[in-house]
Amino acid sequence: MSTGPDVLIVGAGLAGLACARHLADSGIALEVIEASDGIGGRVRTDQVDGFLLDRGFQVLLTAYPEAQRTLDYHALDLKKFAPGALSWFAGRMNKLVDPWRTPGGWSEVFRADFGTLLDKLRILRLRSQLQNASLEKIFQRPDRSAKEALATAGFSEEFIHRFFRPFFGGILLDAELKSSNRMLEFVFKMLSQGDTAIPSRGMSAIPAQIASHLPADSLRFNTRVESLHENELTLQAGETARARAIVVAADGPAAAHLVGEAEPASRSVSCFYYAADEPPVTGPWLVLNGDGAGPVNNFSVVSEVAPSYAPSGKALISATVLGTHQLTDQQLSGFVIAQMKNWFGPVASTWRYLKSYRIPHAQPQQFPGALEPPQRPVRVRPGVYVCGDHRDNASIQGAMLSGRRAAEAVLADLAR
Ligand SMILES: Cc1cc2nc3c(=O)[nH]c(=O)nc-3n(C[C@H](O)[C@H](O)[C@H](O)COP(=O)(O)OP(=O)(O)OC[C@H]3O[C@@H](n4cnc5c(N)ncnc54)[C@H](O)[C@@H]3O)c2cc1C
Repeated sequence: MSTGPDVLIVGAGLAGLACARHLADSGIALEVIEASDGIGGRVRTDQVDGFLLDRGFQVLLTAYPEAQRTLDYHALDLKKFAPGALSWFAGRMNKLVDPWRTPGGWSEVFRADFGTLLDKLRILRLRSQLQNASLEKIFQRPDRSAKEALATAGFSEEFIHRFFRPFFGGILLDAELKSSNRMLEFVFKMLSQGDTAIPSRGMSAIPAQIASHLPADSLRFNTRVESLHENELTLQAGETARARAIVVAADGPAAAHLVGEAEPASRSVSCFYYAADEPPVTGPWLVLNGDGAGPVNNFSVVSEVAPSYAPSGKALISATVLGTHQLTDQQLSGFVIAQMKNWFGPVASTWRYLKSYRIPHAQPQQFPGALEPPQRPVRVRPGVYVCGDHRDNASIQGAMLSGRRAAEAVLADLAR
């Protein structure tokens, strides 16, 4: 048996790293034990043939308060998406801009063939209501599904189908919009108060920056924690490790197994990456499937946002497919390309398949009731704590905030 540091943290995702950083800043000796071969958890980036491939398309919303508090945005060299989106319907791309952040945007919004006049007025009203509401207030609102809340607010079915379903469905990984409306409002507020961005060196630059504040020998990889009893962990080779405090910062299903709780249901997603000689869309746009035909929910030419994601003269395309599918990667990619040929013409069949990612547990499911209370307890029993996006909300913000909350609980208890 090894005698360990004061605190052992299981999992080197954003929650575990954020927790470790707060503890290290307070002078606590700690070790992070990670099952995989690196940091980041669900936020990792691979290099393939000179392209940077995030393990699933995802973005940082710069308005996240916990990210602002923890990260050095300047050092991340953030590259921004255009404020708004393109949506494919009626056989063409339709643009919906954020008029507050687009020169000439007001006339563009009212001219656009995208929703009724009432839809446009309602979305502007929702935006200003959310600007004035605190996050605490948003997470205390009566809980119901996003779809129900949008219908009650008077949005037309067509606008929900062409904009909210692919846009927020893509963020909540839930094309049916059954997720809690609190998440939709939280994300909408974050989108309108800051930028949607990716670091020039890939999303993995975010966990790397947090980990750079940790002592070099505090991270241990390729070591799965099998079980937890009292204050003792059993590691995969039968080795045991003890500490005064143990923080389980694993994803929801793995954490539930370790601390003996019910597993959260999962939202699943797949992401397909292709290389092209020419970008099929110019400009840093998020592109939505507004007509609902085909497997791709949202699409982006990532290299138009951050040119460093592709070698010079090449374009990197990402296509996101929600849910789980029985098809092989090759079969599903065939359907992706068929849809893209419909959008962009025969050139889509010249795109070179780079890689795809299937992520069975991309986010915990957050139907109404799941965020009640908005911040679930991080103390499990004396000496055992838990953090992760399943403790707050399924986002970079939620994961990092839960890590800080767990660190604060550990610090308070160790000081007793
Ligand atoms: C494709 C995709 C798109 C997303 N899009 C966005 C987005 O645009 N914006 C946003 O804010 N959020 C997004 N998210 C959500 C966000 O990435 C997650 O909420 C967040 O990264 C979760 O961090 P975490 O630390 O809680 O969990 P994880 O990142 O899952 O970290 C848990 C770690 O624990 C390790 N572990 C598990 N079990 C064990 C064990 N037994 N022993 C040792 N180690 C273990 C795992 O290997 C992992 O490294 C997206 C997620 C995905 C997958």
